Amino acid sequence: LTVLGLETSCDETAASVVRLSASGAEVLSSVIHSQIDEHAAFGGVVPEIAARSHVEMIDGVARRAMSEAGIDYAALDGVAATAGPGLVGGVMVGLSYGKAVALARGLPLIAVNHLEGHAVSARLGAETTYPFLLLLVSGGHCQLLEVRGIGDMSRLGTTIDDAAGEAFDKIAKAMGLGYPGGPALEKMAASGDGSRFELPRALLGRKDCDFSFSGLKTAASRLAQTCETDQDKADLADAVQKAIARQLAERTERAMLAYAEAHEALHFVVAGGVAANKTIRCTLENLATKHGFSFMAPPMVYCTDNAAMIALAGAERLEKGLTSDIDVAARPRWPLDEARANADPVHK
Ligand code: ATP
Ligand code: MG
Ligand code: FE
Repeated sequence: LTVLGLETSCDETAASVVRLSASGAEVLSSVIHSQIDEHAAFGGVVPEIAARSHVEMIDGVARRAMSEAGIDYAALDGVAATAGPGLVGGVMVGLSYGKAVALARGLPLIAVNHLEGHAVSARLGAETTYPFLLLLVSGGHCQLLEVRGIGDMSRLGTTIDDAAGEAFDKIAKAMGLGYPGGPALEKMAASGDGSRFELPRALLGRKDCDFSFSGLKTAASRLAQTCETDQDKADLADAVQKAIARQLAERTERAMLAYAEAHEALHFVVAGGVAANKTIRCTLENLATKHGFSFMAPPMVYCTDNAAMIALAGAERLEKGLTSDIDVAARPRWPLDEARANADPVHK
């Protein structure tokens, strides 16, 4: 199955062609136009600027994805577009474009949940088998999920306040590291030693698998005001990165113990933008090994937003006959474990 995927839920205009066969997923093209330069001056994504930029870029980006894949529209089996969650002005651009292509070429439309895209993204690098335990750590989400298959997931835990990526971004901003903060903070941390900073540890001893990063965010942002030298900043960055890694590991460990009681095959996947962080990847890989789980993460380029993951989720849905009506609506909010919505995304 060959699917064109479109992603416009935040500040990347992306299009990709993915072919799914018995031997796995093959990315034929993946084009990403980042709007970082347009938002950097504002220290974060401005929804109105994002939506306008998607309108300008989507046609060129989609055409480039088709030409780089070297196939004609006639070779496509479907068109997948992110239908939410995200900034609805942007989501509507990609979804409308997908509808237009589907109508013009007589192709099935597949409305994809952006988070489901992240959930399957590790499969773009290597074959992963369902079911698996997933830690989804992105700019807007921090969740532990049991993933039994496409459209069949249940949530084991979630953040009660901020997402991990959001914590990275806000703390980096307070430290004057610019936007987006995660990669900048990781770079800074490389030359730091965070042992002199004491950061709060949230939810210690809680028996669930939830997360909380707002206390850490507040404390680190306050400490950022006391940093005078670059070394101070590097040390704080290291402390922050370790604190986030530690909480992710502590809560994931709880989920692993529960998951292992109910499953024979133990596979663990981490996905989402924060999965690009090497310290966090490494901490989680060690944790997986300790508890007898296989470890999988998407190739670096597919951790942050891209359309290959949307095309793949679309192809997996198409394989199961899970296509969408042409009047499917864009959804600013769309929980991943909302079973009916995932079986039939027509919710108006
Ligand atoms: P969501 O998927 O929840 O809707 P999003 O699409 O904005 O949110 P992603 O694109 O998956 O999020 O990830 C972006 C986030 O990942 C940002 O918060 C960014 O700071 C963080 N991030 C990216 N690279 C790194 C890194 N190397 N270290 C830490 N965080 C990182
Ligand atoms: Mg982004
Ligand atoms: Fe994302």
